[in-house]
Amino acid sequence: RAKTEGRGRYVLFESKMGKVEHERNQIENDLRAALDTGTGLSLVYQSICDEKGRVTGAEALCRWDHPEHGALSPEIFIRVAEERGLIDRLGQWVLETACRFAVGTNLGKIAVNVSPMQLRHPGFVPMVLETLRTTGLAPTRLELELTERVLLDKTVGIREKIGQLRAAGITIALDDFATGDSSLQYLRDYRVDSIKIDRSFVARLGQDEESDHLVQAIFGLARAMGVAVTVEGVETEMQHDRLAAMGCRTFQGYLLHRPMDSEQFASTMSEGHIAIS
Ligand code: C2E
Ligand code: MG
Ligand code: MG
Ligand code: MG
Repeated sequence: RAKTEGRGRYVLFESKMGKVEHERNQIENDLRAALDTGTGLSLVYQSICDEKGRVTGAEALCRWDHPEHGALSPEIFIRVAEERGLIDRLGQWVLETACRFAVGTNLGKIAVNVSPMQLRHPGFVPMVLETLRTTGLAPTRLELELTERVLLDKTVGIREKIGQLRAAGITIALDDFATGDSSLQYLRDYRVDSIKIDRSFVARLGQDEESDHLVQAIFGLARAMGVAVTVEGVETEMQHDRLAAMGCRTFQGYLLHRPMDSEQFASTMSEGHIAIS
């Protein structure tokens, strides 16, 4: 219920923000201050589980407790960060924080979302490798989640950068798969390790035949291409069972765990509620 109220607030603020330029400016300034002082920003972690419900990894999700507006959706403040040139700093903070968290746990992989604009930055690959060195996280324990939007830009060597990251042992997941209009083209043009089927597809499982067929077809395609599949937004047993029957091995969603702060996540793990891979 708290979640729903929170969402309502985000929407209200977002619609206001669309109209009022100075609010964007305010967000920009406040975000800059948050990055300077390290206050208000945090990460939560959501489990990624195998077919038996064992945790094999976690996705880091950014949270910002805005001094006036309270919890702001990352979809809002990430966009402002992208528009106002703050995404590289924010992205680096997220990566470093997530790696430092993962290093202290026996969690498998830590997945970190990367904005398209970060990947365009010439210093992106060196920054990632340097962050792994300074935090001591093994490259094979890092997964970067790229949205399809990333790959639209052919001019800045995205393919080469993905190749360099994978050569270092980092795995690459294509996030929000099948929500864009060129998903198949991306699968052909870029080598990635896995795709994450967007939760909008999962939400419609069992509601219409087409959705089941579509998801089934994505599994077939991924198998043929040697790409792993994660399914996000699994909320019900019905969805879980349907996906398992389709051959799904990797699940993420509220049914398994909601995103938790680092202490909750660690204590859930140590209480043995989570069987580590
Ligand atoms: P995403 O990467 O696709 O992350 C999944 C979103 O789905 C998260 O929302 C997560 O809390 C939510 N979710 C997970 N399981 C369920 C479920 O069972 N049901 C429902 N309804 N939702 C579920 P969140 O945390 O609000 O993040 C939204 C988006 O913001 C992310 O989508 C990602 O694109 C972006 N984002 C979040 N953190 C970062 C970050 O550190 N960097 C970048 N570049 N983007 C981020
Ligand atoms: Mg993601
Ligand atoms: Mg996703
Ligand atoms: Mg998504």
